[in-house]
Amino acid sequence: MTAKYSVVVPVYNEEKVIYESYKRLKTVMDRTYERYELLFVNDGSRDRTSEMLNYISKGDTNVKVIEFSRNFGHQIAITAGMDYASGQAVVVIDADLQDPPELILKMIEKWQEGYDVVYGKRVERKGETFFKKMTASLFYRTLRMSTEIDIPLDTGDFRLIDRRVCEEMKRIPEKNRFIRGLVSWVGFKQTAIEYIRDERFAGETKYPLKKMLKLSVDGLTSFSYKPLKLATYGGALLSIAGFAYMIIALALKLFTSSTVPGWTSLIVIQLLFSGFTLFILGVIGEYIGRIYDETKDRPLYIVKEAKGFSTANRVRSI
Ligand code: UDP
Ligand code: MG
Repeated sequence: MTAKYSVVVPVYNEEKVIYESYKRLKTVMDRTYERYELLFVNDGSRDRTSEMLNYISKGDTNVKVIEFSRNFGHQIAITAGMDYASGQAVVVIDADLQDPPELILKMIEKWQEGYDVVYGKRVERKGETFFKKMTASLFYRTLRMSTEIDIPLDTGDFRLIDRRVCEEMKRIPEKNRFIRGLVSWVGFKQTAIEYIRDERFAGETKYPLKKMLKLSVDGLTSFSYKPLKLATYGGALLSIAGFAYMIIALALKLFTSSTVPGWTSLIVIQLLFSGFTLFILGVIGEYIGRIYDETKDRPLYIVKEAKGFSTANRVRSI
């Protein structure tokens, strides 16, 4: 018999939180009185996460573990979790207990009311740096402005999706994935539950600046062409400014005896224009890099071991 609920938990170097996280999830899911599975995706952890997951799964038949061959990243780990999940409703939650597991029960209630996607919207974030909160807020707003897809503000990957949505997600072959956007893109009946994001239970964030930047560029490039239009609009603006300046320079030359000595204006224009050009080239490069990734058509992830599954229920064909 398959489970009614699947809880997908991506984990990367979470030895300090994994056991606590398992216990809280178990307590919450036991309260549903339905069959459920806790699906941990170990994203190539280098600490003792793997051993701990082994230990947990030996003592609990509801626990399933997917071991990646290396670190593929948070978004890919969630993807694998969705591929392997068998529940009628699939919940995605971080391992660090920043998203309170107790909220899952409320999500389930909404699902039973008929919603296909119930996402957690953060009204407050505790224990995160001012820098992180500010950049995150700015990012969600920029993204929303740049795309026609209705991607909700301040919403991470903590959400419940119905089996139908999960099946549609499995058909998406995209390599540089921005899951929260893709779930919006898929559509169906969606609703939000507001919550306060707690501090991390223990350990440090596994999202250093570099990974955060990658995720935000993935989000922007997969849902908007607007950055490409920067060249058109920025270029047009600079041309107008350049033309105006040309008229001034010519007028000075023709009608006055005081021609500008010139070095300062030349160097300023030179730096401004070449900076802008290189920036635009970079933007185009980001898109080309992603096209290249798509054409290589490598599998999204490699599973070293899948533990606790009765049948191999991996269904991704792409
Ligand atoms: N994570 C992952 N692979 C990675 C980075 C993170 O599976 O390469 C997991 C991590 O273990 C956690 C979740 O993704 O369960 C979110 O990461 P984290 O809490 O560090 O991000 P933050 O909340 O600081 O943005
Ligand atoms: Mg976290």
